[in-house]
Amino acid sequence: MSKQRPPRYATQKRVLVTGGAGFIGSHLCARLIEQGHSVLCVDNFFTGTRANVATLLDNPDFEMMRHDITFPLYVEVDEIYNLACPASPVHYQFDPVQTTKTSVVGAVNMLGLAKRLRVPILQASTSEVYGDPSVHPQVESYWGNVNPIGPRSCYDEGKRCAETLFFDYHRQHKLAIKVIRIFNTYGPHMHPNDGRVVSNFIVQALRGEDITIYGDGLQTRSFCYVDDLVAGMMAMMATPDSVTGPVNLGNPGEFTMLELAQLVLELTGSSAQLQFRPLPQDDPKQRRPDTSRARELFGWEARIALREGLGHTIEYFREVVRRVDGA
Ligand code: NAD
Ligand code: UDP
Repeated sequence: MSKQRPPRYATQKRVLVTGGAGFIGSHLCARLIEQGHSVLCVDNFFTGTRANVATLLDNPDFEMMRHDITFPLYVEVDEIYNLACPASPVHYQFDPVQTTKTSVVGAVNMLGLAKRLRVPILQASTSEVYGDPSVHPQVESYWGNVNPIGPRSCYDEGKRCAETLFFDYHRQHKLAIKVIRIFNTYGPHMHPNDGRVVSNFIVQALRGEDITIYGDGLQTRSFCYVDDLVAGMMAMMATPDSVTGPVNLGNPGEFTMLELAQLVLELTGSSAQLQFRPLPQDDPKQRRPDTSRARELFGWEARIALREGLGHTIEYFREVVRRVDGA
């Protein structure tokens, strides 16, 4: 009589998520567990927190490991999502050398792990590889316009070099790679002090503090709600080995920072004032993804409108601000 595995274990994968205690990683871990997988979350807690994965800590399918991916990691898994890297300018510029090491040495270590195990590996790359783009909206075939020696370079060039490593491991070692370029993403579990525009504006509005607009506020970004992004990441991982990317993931709706500020003020009911501050160096003037490749390859597109996603995010930050301010 042939031995049959119970249905759950036949389909269950053991999935490594590096940076799993961060903003996006924590949502990905939760979704993977919801889908019946077992998750090994690896994080050095530089920007991530145990609070982000608090609801998972007692789950027998979730394992948390404190580890810095700039050091080798020996574990046994079926799939790897490589998200470890601070993502906000304030955090990645805090220790720029460590940021580049995390992107580059961390990629070598995780690719080495994938190579030993012969498992697919997804890289969380970024729209920052396009720099201050002269092609708009950004298509994957555009090579970008990146300053190699500026304050954002540790992140932008680190991520670009990681992409190079992924494609060289693919060509040289026949590794199954999945490279996604994530555009600005927002939602619950964003760090309240990470300086990113959505968290800044919401926290400022909720506290009645001035909304800090950098430059004239006419620069644009496209904002993707985290649930949409996680669905796209998992859909990309499920594609055949022939699909390597890079693939843009983001919401093509494009807004100026002034429009975003107005929407946040409206949705929070705040009467906070706008305060104009100098534009940071190398701040891209415009950014919007062309997501036709993701749509064609795996039928993905962002569905959650900014107004709706901001509503969920504001609810989350109301609670955070209440707890922190003791109000
Ligand atoms: P985040 O800072 O909340 O999460 C990053 C996580 O990585 C944190 O938990 C941090 O502690 C961990 N980490 C950092 N260095 C590490 C190291 N050396 N070893 C182990 N863990 C380490 O950021 P996020 O917004 O969740 O971003 C996740 C990934 O997505 C990043 O790779 C980022 O570059 C990419 N990304 C994010 C966005 C966005 O808008 N949020 C846009 C483009 C790309
Ligand atoms: N920004 C702003 N006020 C803030 C924080 C950011 O006007 O308090 C601007 C910033 O200059 C940039 C845009 O918002 O033009 C998005 O910034 P963020 O740091 O969120 O992401 P990135 O620049 O990496 O896209």
